[in-house]
Amino acid sequence: MSSTHDDPPNGKSPGDNPSRESPTNANRNECDGCSASCETWRVLVSAEDAQREPRITREARELPENQRTPLWRFVLFPLPFHESCCFLDEKNRCGIYETRPRVCREFEAGSVRCQEARALGNLPRLLPMTVEGREAAESSEK
Ligand code: SF4
Ligand code: SF4
Repeated sequence: MSSTHDDPPNGKSPGDNPSRESPTNANRNECDGCSASCETWRVLVSAEDAQREPRITREARELPENQRTPLWRFVLFPLPFHESCCFLDEKNRCGIYETRPRVCREFEAGSVRCQEARALGNLPRLLPMTVEGREAAESSEK
């Protein structure tokens, strides 16, 4: 799936991009659609994202002026009374997948942020797709 997920809604310092890793083929992870990232990290949205997907403007909140940057204009999560991004449907799928915000496109399955979100949701670590990658991940954890 997913997702900025740049900062936890519980408030650590705001940033502007999810952490990214450059996995090799052997240790690439395939997203299993757990949706933890869409329920954990702050989702910031640019004006360009909102232009591409008009539903974002309806659902997101405009950031207070003192929090806006040349890039970030809206916040999609966290919002009051929402336990996850409002575009996450009942099957844990993104309702605007084709036009989702840039931060969601750039979020990498298996990245530090992905694994942190899974841990916060009491989910197991996402493992690499290949046996070779899984062995490498296991030996790096020893
Ligand atoms: S827009 Fe889609 S991918 Fe991004 S946080 Fe919301 S549900 Fe997840
Ligand atoms: S937390 Fe990781 S595995 Fe779960 S939906 Fe997000 S990217 Fe996919």
